Amino acid sequence: APFQEVDVHDLLDSTVVMLGRKIGDDVRVVKDYDRSLPLLSGYAAELNQVWTNLIDNAIGAMGGSGTLTVRTFRRDESAVVEIGDTGPGIPPELKGRVFEPFFTTKPVGDGTGLGLDISWRIVVDKHHGDLRFESAPGDTRFQVWLPLAAPPP
Ligand code: ADP
Ligand code: MG
Repeated sequence: APFQEVDVHDLLDSTVVMLGRKIGDDVRVVKDYDRSLPLLSGYAAELNQVWTNLIDNAIGAMGGSGTLTVRTFRRDESAVVEIGDTGPGIPPELKGRVFEPFFTTKPVGDGTGLGLDISWRIVVDKHHGDLRFESAPGDTRFQVWLPLAAPPP
């Protein structure tokens, strides 16, 4: 299937609405959008799945209360979507493993360990973008980098 024209902000807004119950009343949601970003080419449903995975992880890490930040900005030739949380962060010794399939620190039945693996495949393999993170206690940010120009065929 060909790429679709995707409005990142529409997609992010609908993901946040869809996850409303999970986000709950004790998580503050801060949106900081660069509205000058153009429409992107991509697969809307799959990108929705990426934000859903990242926001789900952020909410899980905060254990019900904290601040969820959904930010967009332009950097170089990419649109960047950043999902930030104020949870405890990813311990340095685990940072190299979080993208591994089935890697999870959640109790059995809670996490499949596939969210970041699937997100990697959607962002990097299918959209020719990049998936990065920085994490310290109280400040974890996952970034989805999507190329602004259509990738070569
Ligand atoms: P799952 O959510 O099923 O555990 P993921 O692939 O989504 O699988 O994430 C893998 C692991 O990466 C999580 O179990 C957790 O240890 C770590 N992780 C991911 N996102 C965060 C985050 N925002 N804060 C802290 N740890 C995280
Ligand atoms: Mg997950």
